[in-house]
Amino acid sequence: MSIRMYDIIKKKRDGKELTREEIDFFVQGYTNNRIPDYQAASLLMAIYFNKMNKRETLDLTKAMINSGETVDLSQINGIKVDKHSTGGVGDKTTIALGPMVAACGVPFVKMSGRGLGHTGGTLDKLESIKDFKVELSKEDFFNISNEINIALCSQTANITPADKKLYSLRDVTATVENISLIASSIMSKKLAIGSDAIILDVKVGSGAFMKDLDSAILLAEEMVEIGIGFGRETIALITNMDEPLGYAIGNGLEIKEAVETLKGKGPKDFYELCLSLGSKLLVLAKKSSNEKEAREMLIEVVETGSAYEKLLELVEYQHGDIRYIENTELLPKAEYILEVKSDDEGYIKSMNAEEIGKCALILGAGRETKESEIDLSAGIVLNKKVDEKVSNGDVLAYIHGNDKEKVEEVKEMLRDIIKIGKKNEMSKKLIYGEVTNKKTKLY
Ligand code: URA
Repeated sequence: MSIRMYDIIKKKRDGKELTREEIDFFVQGYTNNRIPDYQAASLLMAIYFNKMNKRETLDLTKAMINSGETVDLSQINGIKVDKHSTGGVGDKTTIALGPMVAACGVPFVKMSGRGLGHTGGTLDKLESIKDFKVELSKEDFFNISNEINIALCSQTANITPADKKLYSLRDVTATVENISLIASSIMSKKLAIGSDAIILDVKVGSGAFMKDLDSAILLAEEMVEIGIGFGRETIALITNMDEPLGYAIGNGLEIKEAVETLKGKGPKDFYELCLSLGSKLLVLAKKSSNEKEAREMLIEVVETGSAYEKLLELVEYQHGDIRYIENTELLPKAEYILEVKSDDEGYIKSMNAEEIGKCALILGAGRETKESEIDLSAGIVLNKKVDEKVSNGDVLAYIHGNDKEKVEEVKEMLRDIIKIGKKNEMSKKLIYGEVTNKKTKLY
């Protein structure tokens, strides 16, 4: 009997398990425009409420990978590692972590999409460096990776077109926040590109998709299981996104902070996250037999300057102007830089990362729709973070923007968002735990 979309929707609506054939039928049909948006949206909503089990999620991931091209990285020498973050505010990790890992001799190769968000993605951030070319041919991508152990580029191949269509539909039908849908969406894109090992940074907190630890653990477990199911070494760290990572939020501003971090002068939380993710990657890539030694190797490449040199090399190989790294004052500059001052004293007790992200978006640092133009100079630089002592008149943050009204609007918003009190009300724990194929370990 031939499969009908109506029956698939009804089956999931009634809480039943879909077969592999049904999932393939849906994914292929929707990608090829045979299934209309309204039927796809109904099924997504049924999945949202009635969930998918692990087998269905794995089949959905496979179907999405099969909807497009895959990239074979076997022409790149060595054990290739990739990293993915589920998204957070001020998350510039790839830009510092990549050069650190590559400077230790591990090929760090990453093809990213652009996406929506409070600030741009890694590619947008890199584009604040004059002439930096994110579009590379496969051949250039392989050659650069082999020569300098690192290449960061946009997806040139038609990777997971099913996910592109489905993600856009989920975005407008309130069906993003489902663990199976998120896990299969992220992992299909990662798995379509053939790295050997993957580290996932699953964020939890106000600025993350997953607002509570239990759902972050479930998402991490689901993604690790998918990765392992496809024969890739996959590990997830569950990390804090209650307050922004580091101090800088905004594309050019984050590049500056990543450069400072590679020079050993970065924010403590951000550097620590790079060391934690990096040491796992070095072990996965068999560069080191244990995380303690791996961590020392990473610290050494920062202290000797070779990680910073690696970033310069990356920028040079991808046609960027290295003067923008050597002198970060050259990075895009906003016309207005306004201070937000404290009119109270005590300690910073909380700052909602998502709300701060929205402020960055208002300033133009991110994309609201796929067509939005990013202002690479816009954003926020925090001057204080949770737990820090504040006196009356202290600067809490600097707002960078080119639209006077918006800068003023954000100034008012930040005054409300950054809460001052007698004590901290938020967790300062940076890493909550890790998920491997063997177990979930909470720290
Ligand atoms: N990022 C993705 O790529 N997909 C999701 O579903 C959520 C976040």
